[in-house]
Amino acid sequence: MTFATLGLIEPLLRSLETLGYQTPTPVQAQAIPAVLAGRDLMAAAQTGTGKTAGFALPLLQLLAMEGPKVTANSVRALILVPTRELAEQVHEAVRQYAENLPLSTYAVYGGVSINPQMMKLRKGVDLLVATPGRLLDLFRQNALKFNQLQTLVLDEADRMLDLGFSEELGNIYKALPKKRQTLLFSATFSDAIRTLAGQMLNDPLSIEVSPRNVAANTVKQWVVTVDKKRKPELFIHLLRKGKWKQVLVFAKTRNGVDALVEKLQGLGINADGIHGDKPQATRQRALDRFKASEVQILVATDVAARGLDIEDLPLVVNFDLPIVAEDYIHRIGRTGRAGATGQAISLVCADEVNLLSAIETLTRQTLPRQMEHDFEPEHRVPDTDASGQVIKKPKKPKKPKTSGGGKRNLGKWVESGDASAPEPSIKPVRKVPVFNTGPRKRKP
Ligand code: AMP
Repeated sequence: MTFATLGLIEPLLRSLETLGYQTPTPVQAQAIPAVLAGRDLMAAAQTGTGKTAGFALPLLQLLAMEGPKVTANSVRALILVPTRELAEQVHEAVRQYAENLPLSTYAVYGGVSINPQMMKLRKGVDLLVATPGRLLDLFRQNALKFNQLQTLVLDEADRMLDLGFSEELGNIYKALPKKRQTLLFSATFSDAIRTLAGQMLNDPLSIEVSPRNVAANTVKQWVVTVDKKRKPELFIHLLRKGKWKQVLVFAKTRNGVDALVEKLQGLGINADGIHGDKPQATRQRALDRFKASEVQILVATDVAARGLDIEDLPLVVNFDLPIVAEDYIHRIGRTGRAGATGQAISLVCADEVNLLSAIETLTRQTLPRQMEHDFEPEHRVPDTDASGQVIKKPKKPKKPKTSGGGKRNLGKWVESGDASAPEPSIKPVRKVPVFNTGPRKRKP
């Protein structure tokens, strides 16, 4: 199968040739003809499957072949994404695909001045990539109209709900023309996503390219158990031992990101961090430098790193396990892409046993465990398995240390002493009903 046989026009085929895309990925093979035929789509596809081209190529073709010229402050196709980084990334992909077409494209998101965006929208744009909050701001300030909108794409829909954008999505939905094509992409399908799909889609074609909630099997995953306070030391030990060249590291909190980056930099290790408190330009620069291999270690929170496409990333380290088990799949999805093999190592302390158990249940596997010599945990991480059980059976306790009267918490749930708040994005907010009126959790 080729892109030509899927019905794509020559200007798009030329762009794909320039980009070196030879064969459509499974999601592209299914999505492209369906979108060209005008169908609504509900697609279960993770980043790394080529989903962006799956919706963007046929969308651009429809924009080029059909419909009137865009008028002032109008937009003909809208791609909604959860984060600024993703907006930039998707827009960059769209820009490359549209290289040989007479179409205008643009991306808007919060955290940067709105005025240049308003100026840019004056002439109208054919395809706009946007985060929900900024899009609504622009709409409310009359910088945007939706009367010409023919296609809406919800990319990473589950993440948009996780981030508390359900109210914004509801308001956007009300402002859109009823007659339109809608494409919904989501890595996971919770009840909230199905409700959203029920409201927004019209007789959608369902596409599922990888088994639901199963992590890429090209990624070798394992756990190293360790005491919480020794995680930084263990990370540095593993980094040196494994001679790691490029690592994406996930930490739970913004403070955690900053602390690890500071520690690494203090040792002369080339590291940088991204999280929601950092200005957009700083985040983008760190990411660009990491992609260009100018930064060896990028430490990130989930909100900053979701959906990012980094080619050939060999290794992901979960310095902390994610609070929401599905984020584990997204995190490790940064590696092992397009058939390449990758590694995902999780440093797990006793506090995190329930998070580990949730991940194993979701991915239907028991993650192999290792202990690193000299880093064996004093607080044993209880056994877990894919059935969701935390196996309470205490192992024979180690001899207590003689010094200092330290607590013995062997095999027991140990409450976290970490007072710093997790990134809001990773709060388990997906139980909120779709389009509820609850407060927004955060802007991306
Ligand atoms: P995505 O899942 O959309 O984030 O895409 C993941 C990566 O795969 C991106 O770097 C794309 O440029 C690349 N890609 C998408 N489709 C193809 C294809 N058919 N052949 C080669 N690379 C592709």
